[in-house]
Amino acid sequence: MKAKFVDTGARRYVVGNVTQFDQKNEMFCRPFWDEEMLDLGKKFYMTEVPPKDKPGYRLKDQAVVNAAWHLENTFAQGVAGGRMGMYAWEWDKIFEYPLVPPGLKIDIDDPIEVTKDIKKTATFFGASLVGICKLDRSWVYSSAFPLRDLKSVPNALPDGYKYVIAIAVEMDYKAIGCSSTSPASAATGLGYSKMAFIAGLTAHYIRGLGYRAIACGNDTACSIPIAIDAGLGELARNGLLITPDYGPRVRLAKVITDLPLVPDRPIEFGVWNFCLKCEKCAVNCPSQSIAYGEPTDKANNRSNREGVLRWPINAEKCLMFWAANGTDCANCIRTCPFNKPAGRLHDFVRWAIRNTPRLNTLFLWADDLFGYGKQMKADGFWTE
Ligand code: SF4
Ligand code: SF4
Repeated sequence: MKAKFVDTGARRYVVGNVTQFDQKNEMFCRPFWDEEMLDLGKKFYMTEVPPKDKPGYRLKDQAVVNAAWHLENTFAQGVAGGRMGMYAWEWDKIFEYPLVPPGLKIDIDDPIEVTKDIKKTATFFGASLVGICKLDRSWVYSSAFPLRDLKSVPNALPDGYKYVIAIAVEMDYKAIGCSSTSPASAATGLGYSKMAFIAGLTAHYIRGLGYRAIACGNDTACSIPIAIDAGLGELARNGLLITPDYGPRVRLAKVITDLPLVPDRPIEFGVWNFCLKCEKCAVNCPSQSIAYGEPTDKANNRSNREGVLRWPINAEKCLMFWAANGTDCANCIRTCPFNKPAGRLHDFVRWAIRNTPRLNTLFLWADDLFGYGKQMKADGFWTE
């Protein structure tokens, strides 16, 4: 089944009536209120996982995971609802000094120049990819559910926020290659900490220009449709964004702003057609949470929404595996043929997937033949 039309960005996947998603239904929130998920919550959030005498599960493996998450967990909490620290909406109540004299703003004679400056600044702060789109409020959560308070709070963005800066942060190829052991979790945690750092600083740069900005991680709005609208990549079977340069091996943050910017165009480079042939992520998913076969617009539980054509992930089964594994998992990133380090051969294959989709079966066969996506040894993280 073909998706509709590239220029409409994430709306190319919309085939029904799409309403705003309530963050309370997101899988990291449900264990706190959904009766069917309470036991899972106890296991995932409240059970200490002792180290094991096994590569990837030792104390030092756990310590590097915890260290990698430190900035996100302590100064942003984007996974837990955000709206504090680097992701604070009312940042001026935290930092009691004026960034610019009241009323002072840069003149926006040339939004193209300002857009270039924003991309330069975000890249300078560490972003791997930066794209701009107009804010589609369908992707903003109807309500937020910060895990600090465990209650829904209004999430209406103030008027005037019209643009979003989508930011992708590359995760370490070799560490993700160790999934589903701790080095992959460390790569994920580091991605989240970098998101908070980069998005938070980029938002503060905009405030210094006299405009408003809200930095967000997973909180406030769905990151994947925004990244698609901003031209960073395409939606894939594994439920993730696939980018041309890093495949799904990225984490996503965003900055919502009233600074006038020039949007990028959405892109298409053959991911949808490739996913129709390839099921490597589904085959290698330890909890069988990824759908085989054709895409659908039907939800499989309340953590998906209806009306969007895609392969819905079963986030309940996914989180159950994480709880049982004692650390999270990135097999659906590790095994994806789009997850490759930079290099001429891989650039050529990416070009060929975009331009000769009839050869997709051959590329898939070659991916298996060369052993891409196989799990790397967790001890290699410390020695290579
Ligand atoms: S993170 Fe692991 S368990 Fe979850 S969907 Fe991906 S492969 Fe499956
Ligand atoms: S592993 Fe294959 S099916 Fe899954 S997201 Fe990657 S390309 Fe698509």
